Amino acid sequence: MNDSLDLNEFHWLLAIVQNIDVGVVVLDRNYCVQVWNTFMENRSGLQPKDAQNQNFLSLFPEIDQQWFSRKVESVATLGTPAFTIWELRPYLVRFKNYQPITGQEEFMYQNTTLLPLRSTDGKIKHICLVIYDVTDVATNRHQLQAANAQLQQLSRTDRLTGLYNRGHWEESLKGAYARHQRYGNATSLVMLDIDHFKQINDTYGHQAGDKVIEEIARLIHEHVRETDMAGRYGGEEFGVVLSDTDKTNGWVFAERLRKAVEGLEVLHNGQSIRFTISLGVADLSQQSINYAELIAWADHALFASKKAGRNRVTVYE
Ligand code: GH3
Ligand code: MG
Ligand code: MG
Repeated sequence: MNDSLDLNEFHWLLAIVQNIDVGVVVLDRNYCVQVWNTFMENRSGLQPKDAQNQNFLSLFPEIDQQWFSRKVESVATLGTPAFTIWELRPYLVRFKNYQPITGQEEFMYQNTTLLPLRSTDGKIKHICLVIYDVTDVATNRHQLQAANAQLQQLSRTDRLTGLYNRGHWEESLKGAYARHQRYGNATSLVMLDIDHFKQINDTYGHQAGDKVIEEIARLIHEHVRETDMAGRYGGEEFGVVLSDTDKTNGWVFAERLRKAVEGLEVLHNGQSIRFTISLGVADLSQQSINYAELIAWADHALFASKKAGRNRVTVYE
């Protein structure tokens, strides 16, 4: 290898470091900037002559000094690289995000590598920071998380009513049952079914029937508390789990709902539709084998309401 080739290589390396699409900064042991590549210049707006010999921490006051110096010192002492990732620390230095596609992120997410640089005498007198722009990775992750949350929401809710669907509602009831087993808090269940719903469908049409179901769901939603769980159990059957509520208070809730439905008028194509519901209430004050037994009790009471003439509440004793 001759000297001219060495010089060539040096120039190549310099050109590569200058033009590579990652931030390259070399700091001396006083954290003063020795190398400042084009990426750093473009993103920070600081020219190499303005950054040169400046303290890196003064240039970027947003850096957690204690954390950063601990990192740098361990790299210098141990002679091994260290890393920071955006999931733990979104960025090392705050740069605006200019990427057109990932424009929704305000700043540039960064991964950073800290490398020990040995001088010819073998001592580590400099540290190299390599800063990667990982904004599109972060954006993708955020979009995926948002989509997953939306998907989860969709998979839990019944499309027509916006209430919990049967699957998720039963899971919630299982959870309430388990809490009752453990802490003994009162838990009651109200099951309800629209009276003569087939007649509503037959008289006014299926769409009118759907509207009735929607309106009942809206009423239920208005009547429950934050901690209650209302679900669509079947076509025109609903279940409401009332936490910290015994069957006496469950009856109060059920009766209030029954009256509200009785007073409800649904308008469909200019026609007024009136209807009623029957309800059954049960709680966990007596011994039970599992959550399904509570459903069976409330259902039993609901059936009794139907048999007794509908538009009424029965409490399972
Ligand atoms: P009862 O008073 O004994 O409850 O009489 P009912 O006519 O309401 O009888 P039942 O509860 O068995 O009625 C269920 C009917 O509800 C059958 C089905 O056609 C209708 N249904 C179920 N799901 C839907 C739905 O999503 N939309 C509409 N429009 N109708 C539905
Ligand atoms: Mg039914
Ligand atoms: Mg019915």
